[in-house]
Amino acid sequence: MTGIIEAEELTKYYGRLCALDAVDLKVARGEWLCVMGPSGSGKTTLLNLLSCLDRPSSGALVIDGTDVTRLDAAAVTRFRRETVGLIFQQFHLVPYLNALENVMLAQYFHSMADEEEARRALEDVGLGDRAHHLPSQLSGGEQQRVCIARALINEPRLILADEPTGNLDSANEEIVMGILRRLHAAGHTIVVVTHNTEVAESADRIIRLEHGRIVSSTWCQPSAVSYQLADR
Ligand code: ADP
Ligand code: MG
Repeated sequence: MTGIIEAEELTKYYGRLCALDAVDLKVARGEWLCVMGPSGSGKTTLLNLLSCLDRPSSGALVIDGTDVTRLDAAAVTRFRRETVGLIFQQFHLVPYLNALENVMLAQYFHSMADEEEARRALEDVGLGDRAHHLPSQLSGGEQQRVCIARALINEPRLILADEPTGNLDSANEEIVMGILRRLHAAGHTIVVVTHNTEVAESADRIIRLEHGRIVSSTWCQPSAVSYQLADR
């Protein structure tokens, strides 16, 4: 079975620095993969390549059946907005737009504008009553949930999150974790970078990066057996 992510010898140089060094990675559809590793080990670089925000220096990368290394800039943008939902540690909300408008901005990029749907997306993350607040009027946890609502507006098959709970207190971390668990249960594929062992324990598999290489890969959920078989 083909994975939703198939990377072979994926490599990224920044000048002479090798940030990602010939990484082979296959992620099954519906799998929840956690990426751990020390600062500077290449986690964000990997996520940026998987989200097509950046291009590999060499290697193969097929996502959801598409060879993304062959897409031109316009096709990459289209592919990303149709397939990938991105959640960042820094929330990247537009400061002068309220929560509802920030979510609707994502719809704009998907060529649709449906205020009711945007409002439902905010309700889904528990922010129905914060729709008209500006980011500066929201707590860190609330901003992260706006970011998640925005990332999910197009029902992306692949959800990529870079330290999504890195700036959150434990109560908000639990809320965000609950949302990720729900998405996983609904069949979305999730790749999450985290330092948090609790986040990691919810995943099907943990890979560890060091100096741009995968140094370990551990299956952690009994239910992940089917993904393991798919990985062969
Ligand atoms: P992590 O997310 O694991 O902390 P990164 O993927 O951000 O690590 O970085 C991996 C390595 O690549 C680091 O040495 C970092 O300094 C370097 N790096 C990351 N992004 C850039 C960039 N845009 N230009 C130059 N070097 C970069
Ligand atoms: Mg990083």
